[in-house]
Amino acid sequence: MTENTDLVDTLVQPRVVDAVPAGALGGGPATLRADSVSAWFGDHKVLDRVSLTMPAREVTALIGPSGCGKSTFLRILNRMHELIGSAALSGRVLLDEQDIYDRGRRITHARRQIGMVFQKPNPFPAMSIYDNVVAGLKLNAIKVGRDGKDDLVEECLTKAGLWNEVKDRLRQPGGALSGGQQQRLCIARSLAVRPRVLLMDEPCSALDPTSTRRIEETIAELKSEVTIVIVTHNMQQAARVSDTCAFFLAAQGTPGVIVEHGDTDAMFNSPRDERTSDYVNGRFG
Ligand code: ADP
Ligand code: MG
Repeated sequence: MTENTDLVDTLVQPRVVDAVPAGALGGGPATLRADSVSAWFGDHKVLDRVSLTMPAREVTALIGPSGCGKSTFLRILNRMHELIGSAALSGRVLLDEQDIYDRGRRITHARRQIGMVFQKPNPFPAMSIYDNVVAGLKLNAIKVGRDGKDDLVEECLTKAGLWNEVKDRLRQPGGALSGGQQQRLCIARSLAVRPRVLLMDEPCSALDPTSTRRIEETIAELKSEVTIVIVTHNMQQAARVSDTCAFFLAAQGTPGVIVEHGDTDAMFNSPRDERTSDYVNGRFG
């Protein structure tokens, strides 16, 4: 299953949702904590007892070679992993110390509080820029009046660093934008439901350097209001945007683990583990 179809599945599946009054939304950035998370696809174990605290108002970068379980870990953080037929997991994920997997907690509630932006920008291409931004409201049964919607669209596009480029053409299709603009539109769409955490899986890997810079600026501006967790293969990007960093590694034939995590400057300048040092200095991966 590609990451794009993951999202489409999430958006189109029938769901029972509580009507959430606009005033009850939000809550501000929250700390996300993974506690001994393991993951499997069938009998293939891909993560082994991963624990990581992703503090509120900080950017946490997840780095490591392909196949070590970074995307799987991210999907576990907002309950998308369980959409995959063969997928299983153990451990806990706590959003401000409340387990998002607790029985009785709705999967839709976790997904609204913990948004996701994918590698390949995936706006609804035929839908207008305006309607793309507010698409998540209806799916989450969030009712907002017309004026409120206009304000929300402007606010979210501004936060995503796109407002000035699109304010005169909000009725044009999202698919007409450049790749970098589409990614910022996806960020605006995620912000419209007021998530407390935003997960980003290699959000710049399909973008040119200028667009990448714009997204990095956006991340820096957003971190005061939403906790950000970003997977990136770009070491300079991890060093530029993140406060803390976690290095994932899966040795041949074994599940992914976190080798080292901590303050980003320390991870890059004085790593404790030789494997971290090799990776951040481009000696493998
Ligand atoms: P990363 O994002 O670090 O590249 P992934 O989380 O995508 O790593 O993959 C971790 C492991 O899980 C890999 O061995 C990959 O082949 C496997 N995997 C990922 N997605 C699926 C899936 N949908 N079905 C089966 N195996 C998968
Ligand atoms: Mg990945």
